Amino acid sequence: MSINEKYFDIAMDKLRQRRDANRAILQSRHREICEKQPRYALLEQSLAETSAQLIRLMLTDRDNSQTTLKQLEESNLAMQNEMHSILTGAGYPADYLEEIFTCPVCRDKGTADGKWCECVNKLMLNAAAEELNSVSPMKLSTFESFDLGYFSAEIDPALGVSHRDIMKKNYEFCKRYAEEFTTDSEGIFMSGGTGLGKTHLSLAIADTVIRKGYSVIYGSVPELLRDIEKQHYGKSEEDTLGSLTRCDLLILDDLGAEAEKATYPSLLYQLINARISRGLPMIINSNCGANELKSRYQDRIWSRIFSYEVLMFVGQDVRRRLRK
Ligand SMILES: [Zn+2]
Repeated sequence: MSINEKYFDIAMDKLRQRRDANRAILQSRHREICEKQPRYALLEQSLAETSAQLIRLMLTDRDNSQTTLKQLEESNLAMQNEMHSILTGAGYPADYLEEIFTCPVCRDKGTADGKWCECVNKLMLNAAAEELNSVSPMKLSTFESFDLGYFSAEIDPALGVSHRDIMKKNYEFCKRYAEEFTTDSEGIFMSGGTGLGKTHLSLAIADTVIRKGYSVIYGSVPELLRDIEKQHYGKSEEDTLGSLTRCDLLILDDLGAEAEKATYPSLLYQLINARISRGLPMIINSNCGANELKSRYQDRIWSRIFSYEVLMFVGQDVRRRLRK
């Protein structure tokens, strides 16, 4: 089974679960109304009977039953109106007992207008992202657990502001970015030494963005490049590069920490370029300074990275301070 077939099956399974879950909700709502509003249950019963009667009449006795037909139709309408008032009168929304769809476009069938619905694609990407994230050390960090108290409030003479002020700005930028995230969002480049919270804030963004229903893949550049290379030159059916290219948000951690192999810059360029040409955002983190990146990668890579919003991380290694 190819990777895409595997994710397709997972997506179809998820759709089935959605339909089952929505049906179960509707059934329990219906039970609830019938118990609390016995009149509603009664009306529903009569409505079913008169509807059957109506159909019989229409099929058998076309000419002589116009009056009866009209009466039945009117009584049907009256019952429907009364049911509606019972529902809304008891404080329920008018559509409380209507079919529930998680995806209104395809009504959770997976296809609409003879085409696969966008939600299937999304479910497949989520499945791919889940699998990739499960093998990376993705312990989701949150904005709440980010502590600005670790950063000095003293003015840094070289910068003219305190590290805490700079980090507070970075924090607020990331939080707003996550809250307002869409696939049209810009990219972010986070630069600064280890242990200053780049990974933490990226994962906090991932956490928020995943909750909004987007597919996010987080991975360290050295590991991802190793995976892609293995698949590129082997006969593997995994398609890491494909998933990395298509997910809604890609977070590349630790750019510059990968081994200096001749093939890596071009693989990296392929990946970055594919996402930029699709207009999909990335967050790229690096411990390297601008000069190091410039000497290491071709213009075409670093110039793209520096067109992003650049956040400078400053301070002392939080992890080292914690150990002390
Ligand atoms: Zn759909």
